Amino acid sequence: MLPWVVRRTRLPLLSLRCVDCGSESAIAGESRFRVNANGKLLHVWLLVRCVSCDRTNKLAVHERAPVSSFDPAVLHGYHVNDPELVASRLLDPWLARRNRYTLDWTGAWRLDAPSEWIDEGWPVQVRVAFEDPVPVRPGRLVAHGLGLSRNDVLRRVKCDISLRRPTSADFTFMVMAER
Ligand SMILES: [Zn+2]
Repeated sequence: MLPWVVRRTRLPLLSLRCVDCGSESAIAGESRFRVNANGKLLHVWLLVRCVSCDRTNKLAVHERAPVSSFDPAVLHGYHVNDPELVASRLLDPWLARRNRYTLDWTGAWRLDAPSEWIDEGWPVQVRVAFEDPVPVRPGRLVAHGLGLSRNDVLRRVKCDISLRRPTSADFTFMVMAER
């Protein structure tokens, strides 16, 4: 079975309306956390910037959370702006819902597919793994990865999920020989 991997190449943009200029796009590149202590309670925000006017927008990560409820390693990550922690919070669907943004993955990911697939015997089986939760349409991804037209994909590809519905969960598919 051939391994394909979908992974991000950078952080996606946020579709988030700016209250100053009305732009619909914000960036989390070089993002920082802000941690405020109020007695034994902590506020943690993730700061993102409007791509048009640079205004900073605060995304609430924790509000009035007891200090004792934090994993010390995670708390340290907030203080040092750990890039992995920035990414995991930004991509967290719960945080996105709470702060009313969606992610714009355009140009922020790639497909890593071995190019020697054609030398395999038919049918060819491929497993697609998602290293990051990029929503892709399986049909388009398969067409792109194999260099096939959409009609070819419909004729020759057998998939265990819908080819049309966007997904970011691992799936497998099979490519039949050209008849
Ligand atoms: Zn703005």
